[in-house]
Order: sequence, then C-alpha cells, then structure tokens
Amino acid sequence: MGIHGLNFATDFSGFRGVPSTRDSISSGGETGMATTASPSLRSVPAPRQTARFAPGFGQRSLLTVDTEEEFDWDGEFSTSDHGLKHLKSIAQFQQFAENIGVVPTYLIDWPIATSARAQEMLGDYVRRGKAEIGIQLHPWVNPPFEEKVNAYNSYAGNLPHALEREKFLRLQERIVECFACTPQIYRAGRYGLGAQSAQMLKDRRVAIDSSVRSLYDYSPSNGPDYSQHPLEPYCVDEERQLLELPLTTVFWGMLRHQGRWLFPRLAKLPKANGIMARAGLLERIALTPEGVPKEAALRGIDMAIDDGLPVLVLSFHSPSLMPGMTPYVRNEDDLDELYDWLRSVYAYLEQRGVAPTTVEEIKASVEV
Ligand SMILES: [Zn+2]
Repeated sequence: MGIHGLNFATDFSGFRGVPSTRDSISSGGETGMATTASPSLRSVPAPRQTARFAPGFGQRSLLTVDTEEEFDWDGEFSTSDHGLKHLKSIAQFQQFAENIGVVPTYLIDWPIATSARAQEMLGDYVRRGKAEIGIQLHPWVNPPFEEKVNAYNSYAGNLPHALEREKFLRLQERIVECFACTPQIYRAGRYGLGAQSAQMLKDRRVAIDSSVRSLYDYSPSNGPDYSQHPLEPYCVDEERQLLELPLTTVFWGMLRHQGRWLFPRLAKLPKANGIMARAGLLERIALTPEGVPKEAALRGIDMAIDDGLPVLVLSFHSPSLMPGMTPYVRNEDDLDELYDWLRSVYAYLEQRGVAPTTVEEIKASVEV
C-alpha cells in the first residue's frame, strides 16, 4: 500500500530518471506522467476525498519543523538579509527529540539546503534514521530571482507558475543531491500554495503536501484562504497520488461546532476573538509552541483526538530554537518554555495513546 504505486524510497535511481530542471523547463513540463490536471490545493476538497489509513494505524503525531534562515520577522522581505546562526540550536533540539523518541521532519528551504553545515548535521540525522527531510519553498531566498521581492510574491503560489516551478525544481534537485534522500513532503513557505502547485508536486513525485493550514485565512494579505479546509488528511487528485496533510488547528469552547462560521466573522471585530476565548466560548488552537500556551495545546489535543483525527501535525520554525530569532522566543526563559511545551505535549500524547509517526510511515499507511 502507499500513495504512489512507485517506491522511490528504495529506488533512488528511478528518481534520477525524472527529467532534469533544464529539460522540464524547455519542454514545458513532464508531459505524459500525469493523466488529468490536478485540482487546486487552494480549493476545499469533497468529503469523499478523505484519506483512509491502514487498520491499526490509529491516531499518530507528526512533528514538522520549518527549517529556514533567520530573518527579521517584522521587516521587509529580503533576498540576502538573513543568517544561519541558530544551526547549533537545531543540534540541541535533535538530541532532545531523539531522547523522547520523536523523528522530526525538517522542511528545509534554499539557505538551509545549500549550507555545508546543515548538510552535515541534518544528513547525519537522516542517515541514522532519526529525522526526515522535506522541502520548504521560501521564494524570496530561492533562485532564480526574477520577481519583485515583496509580501505578495512571498507566497510562491502567487508567482507566475513557471517561476514557482523553477524555484521548486532547483530546490528539490539541490536537496536530492546534497542530502542523498528523496524528500516526500512539501510545504510552501507562508502556506503559499498556488492553483498549479498540486500538479507540480505530482509531476515531481512528491507524495505529500503539508501547506494547508486549516482554519486560517491569509486572503487579507493576498495569501490562500484555508478557513473552510478540513483537518483530516485527504487525497488531492483522482489518481490518489498526492496526499494533503493539513497542519492541525482546532476550535475549542462551547461554540466550537460553529467555529468555521463564527470565527472569521468575529475576526473582523476588534478583540472579539480574545474575549470569546477567555470566556471559554470559542478559541482557535494551533498545535505549535509558537504563541500557544501548553495548557491550550493540551485542550486542542483533546479536541483532535475526540474528533478522530488520524494524524496530529505539529509545527514550529527552527529559528525559534535560538533566543531572539523569532517573535515567539525572545529570551532563554521563552526557550525553556518551548522545550517545556514539547515535553508536556509529548507526555500527554503518549498518555492518550497517540504515538509519533514519520512521513514514510504515513505514506505507507494510506490506503489507495
Ligand atoms: Zn517558512
């Protein structure tokens, strides 16, 4: 079983048979591989597309780390103004993850993929079977640089598709080359999927996308609207070759079943969502240590488990592992809190019978 009939994990040479970046650009894509055009990942799927997992898979958790350069989160987007000082903090985190039996999925972007230090570190984790590598596209730091660097173009899905594709191809090839692995999962930076991202992933044999951040609407800043997307993993295409694995966010509170309708409306009123959350009426809880207190996360986990969600997808950004690099971790106390969050969350997941899983295992457990 598996999403693909193909098994690139054991047939590395087959992957290299895929046309190179140059070929695919000049020929306008890998024609003959896909049968029908894939639906847009920006659209809400039909209920029948919900993925089924092998009996015994149960409910699992996946830890995704958006592994990327440090940059000024409050500043303008920049092609060059960034650093990789926090790499040593990833080494500490990896040790922590291994100690608690979690295999992190590092979704790496161009600056990470091209860093010798990162190649050495992350490559070692992957070779030891203690981590997985996925692809994360931050278009503003990923060649070729043809677009104007601004907030609109920071969503790769807003770029002309040929450019989104070329950036993606270069990144994917670089990762395959430098990490000797075939990444099976993709996340668009800033969750910025486009109308043709699904087809791009299928053409390049990436089995899983995890860019849909359900219950979030980025349309006010020209990004995608995922407010009505499901939390459950689903098959994107008719051929069932591409699985969408949304990041897990839930509603909590007395009005949680009205959340999809109510939350976006309240969001337009100043402070309304904060008041609702404090009153225990409606709270949106993302499973991330960034800005979400652990008490809230544990309540969110209860909701996800009660709803029978097969995979709880946790996430955070790697620069949060070093104080001062993201708005979420400003100092050592914040960093202690992040680790405390992870310790508490994983202890609770274990108590509730939710074991950690991997991308490889998810791929093998989806029934087609
Ligand atoms: Zn990112």
